[in-house]
This record gives sequence, structure tokens and C-alpha cells, in this order.
Amino acid sequence: MKLKILKGSNQIGGCITEIVSNKGTKIIIDLGEDLPDDNVSKCENPNIDGLTIGAKKYDAVFITHSHGDHIGLINYVLDDIDVYVEPISKIIYSLLSTFTHKKIRFKTKDMNFKEKIVINDDIVVTPYIVDHSSYNSSMLLIEADGKKVLHTGDFRNHGVKGKLFLPTLKEIGPVDVIITEGTSLSRGDTKYKTEDDIVKEAKELFAKYDQVFILQSSTNIDRIRSFYKAAKATNKNFIEDVFTSNVTVSLKIDSIPNPKSFNDVYTWIPRRYLNKSLRFKTKYIFPFLKYSKQKSYVNNKYVLMVKTSMIEDIEKLYNKNHITNACLVYSMWEGYKEKVEMKNFIKELKKYGISTIIDIHTSGHADKKTLGLLSTLKAKKIIPIHTSKKEELSNILDNVYLLALNEILEV
Ligand SMILES: [Zn+2]
Ligand SMILES: [Zn+2]
Repeated sequence: MKLKILKGSNQIGGCITEIVSNKGTKIIIDLGEDLPDDNVSKCENPNIDGLTIGAKKYDAVFITHSHGDHIGLINYVLDDIDVYVEPISKIIYSLLSTFTHKKIRFKTKDMNFKEKIVINDDIVVTPYIVDHSSYNSSMLLIEADGKKVLHTGDFRNHGVKGKLFLPTLKEIGPVDVIITEGTSLSRGDTKYKTEDDIVKEAKELFAKYDQVFILQSSTNIDRIRSFYKAAKATNKNFIEDVFTSNVTVSLKIDSIPNPKSFNDVYTWIPRRYLNKSLRFKTKYIFPFLKYSKQKSYVNNKYVLMVKTSMIEDIEKLYNKNHITNACLVYSMWEGYKEKVEMKNFIKELKKYGISTIIDIHTSGHADKKTLGLLSTLKAKKIIPIHTSKKEELSNILDNVYLLALNEILEV
């Protein structure tokens, strides 16, 4: 079989990998947009012949998880090519697209953990659940022509599902080639904090404030759970913004804090949603009105998940004396702080009594120590992608092979 990186061999996000069997069956792994910056729209057709333009030349597309830099361009895939997505990742992607006015590809095929998918009686793909900041992320084992390739997708082992990592590698066993994410290679630390460390840190911090505003990704379910635990431990109501509540309720998993099955979780409906169409409101807003009761914040002890678009709401709380001793917890990648929208938001908060900003975060990606564990698979070649410093991987692992963009590697 042959491997090729069509995009993203030297950047974090937006990676597209092609695998072709000797018989000519062609699959793609991940089709994401480049991570956004302030000036450029990153969601354009990648113009890949036979995949997103022209006549069909590919047999299937497999998506590792619901982050935009992995799934964001699937609506461009030609209609007659199957796109495989894990069902919960599909729900998250669909909601994200709806709330951000993006086109959704409705026709996808389900991909379930440990169930083999056979393409043209030739390539076999098996997804394995992996710990990452996007719920139910997969790593993919691809088998063809008597060879095995593992595509890790984005992963880590310091989160809630981290303990599954080594047993999963053991189950997969030796492979010929690994294609691994290497996000942390350009970052300083060698070992990251665990999600349990986050809970501990949050409990200590929440105890010092009456109102805690949280800025985090709504699809980072583990983090929602961590902050909910800290809110409970410090006797605060937990309030999700309505987008987050749409995500947590739709997943239908009782252990995930959501207003439908938790009587101490509420929903905040941002004022700007009042301008949405009746159709949108009927489906995504009105069902949450019953969870947005006043009592969620009147005792002035609450944890509220916010978005940079919610300044008007924060102003309203401030004017009603619901912000008296508050801080903002920043729980996202540090780099987003450089975005104009984020800078403005943080500046505006000061007007409304929130001038303390505290970082409580841990990466969604494998630290260097965890990347080292890939050696257990005894691969003959390990190819780093999803990194801006791929050459650093050889300081951690043997057999690193730096595959250039569009270079073909015969496995
Ligand atoms: Zn990614
Ligand atoms: Zn990711």
C-alpha cells in the first residue's frame, strides 16, 4: 500500500492523508480546515481531483473526530463517496455547523469503535476510541496488502479516557507504519496536567469567588465535567450557554452534566439568539427555556459558561448586581488569546467587574512522554503530522520518517 500526505505535513490541523492499496482502492483520512486566524477564511474547497472536484476517484473518507481541523471540509466531498464518522462526533459536528451557519453534509455512514469497515474487499479500517479534547475521538488501524498502518488522529492520555491508551496499543499490536500527531513537539513542556489536576485546581479557585465565568470549547465534554465537579464542591449553580446545553443534551449520556437529566444544571440563553429565525428557535432555543430559570443565578453564586459573543449578557448580569466577586477562567489553547475577538472580549469584561483572568487548562494533545509510548507498536516508520516541528519527533522515538508533502511512501 502507498501513503501520501496531501495537506498539513508541516502544520497543526488541516491534515489530509491518502492511502492507496496495491489494487487501487483509495481512501482519505481526515478532511479538515486549517486552524482559523483573523484574516483568512479557511473553509474553502481543497480542490482535490476525484475527491472534492471532478469525477470520483476515491472510495471512502474516514474522519477521526469532530474538531473542525479534521472534519471541517466534508461537505465538499463528492456525493457518491462514502464518508465515515463516529455517531457522537456526527452529532457534535452537526450542531456546531448549525450554530455557525456552516453547510452540513447530512449523508454520512456510521463508524463504530472496534467494528471493521471493509472497502472494496480490500482495505480494512478499524476505529479505536482514544482520549482527546473532542468526545469519542478515534485512532484508525488501516490494513491492506498484508500491512498495517495506524493513524493516531489527535490523542493524549492525560484525560478521562487516558487509561485506555496503553491497553488499546496492546490490542492493536505491532504495525508497519504509524502516522502520528505531533502537536506538542513545538511546545515546551514534556508532561501535561491531567484532567484530575484541573478539577483540583478549579475547586481551589472557585472557592475564592462567588461568580466564575468559564471560557472553554463546548465540545470539550471532559472539561465541562471537571468544572461541574468544582462548581458542586463549592456550592455553585452550574449554567451552560444554550449551545453547550444543545450539545450535552443531544449526546444522551447521563454522566455528562446537562440541564435535562441534572436538576442542578441550568441553561443561559444569550440575548443575540432572540434574533434568530423562528425555525431555529423552535428547535434549538425554546426547548431550553424551561431550564433557564432565574433562580440559577439570583443567589449570586454560580459558574457560567460564556462565549466571546456574550458581552451583552454579562453587562445585563452586572447591571442587575449579579456580578460582585467574579473571575474568568480561560480554559482553551493559549494561542486563541491573540485573536482580536478574544482580546476585545477580555478588555470589555473589565468594565463589568471581571478583571481577574485565570488560566486553568491542559492540552488535548499527547505530551512528549506519551508520544514515546508509541514505540510499543514497533513500527518500522513513524511519520509525524499535525505539527510545526516534525523533526523534533526523532528526539523521542526511533524510526521517525519525515514524509514531505505529496511524497509517496511505499509501505
Ligand atoms: Zn487537530
Ligand atoms: Zn482535535
